[in-house]
Amino acid sequence: MPLKELDCSNCGTKVRKRISEESINITNNPKVIRDVIEGKINYSTCPYCKEKINHKTHVLLTYLDPPRWIWIVDKKHQNPGYQEEFFKTIIPESFEGLIEQEMVFVEFGEPCNCLQFVLDEKQPQTCEEWLGLGKLLTGKKAIECYKNALKIDEKIPEAKKLMHQEMDKLKSYS
Ligand SMILES: [Zn+2]
Repeated sequence: MPLKELDCSNCGTKVRKRISEESINITNNPKVIRDVIEGKINYSTCPYCKEKINHKTHVLLTYLDPPRWIWIVDKKHQNPGYQEEFFKTIIPESFEGLIEQEMVFVEFGEPCNCLQFVLDEKQPQTCEEWLGLGKLLTGKKAIECYKNALKIDEKIPEAKKLMHQEMDKLKSYS
């Protein structure tokens, strides 16, 4: 594993860490799935000020059969433009269509129960669950979740607001 120097964004302390560059295969790996949901991956704590330091902007989790790639990305990149550009550059053209790719946006170091709807492929049941899943996604997939939340309860202002925000982001990108 390559040694990488990380800077604490709060106090500037440099931390050297061995960081895996590879993707994590999560097929039959419930421990890793649990760690991801509990927010235990991809960060260290600054030894001086205790601020969280992300190791990488994203982590790739993979299922082997059928091939499915799930990119867990730092929330600061959550917009449809980032996702589309990323997918364009990351996958060789010959693979296009063969691998199902998804992107979810998280705050590394924070637990996120709604990730179970992506990693365990549980279907959200309630309005709040659809809303929670939508907040992890961007673009059409996020809009789809907010619509599903509104199908259950058409009066949630938060779902409407987020849906329109996401539609605006999509418009300004394309
Ligand atoms: Zn620090």
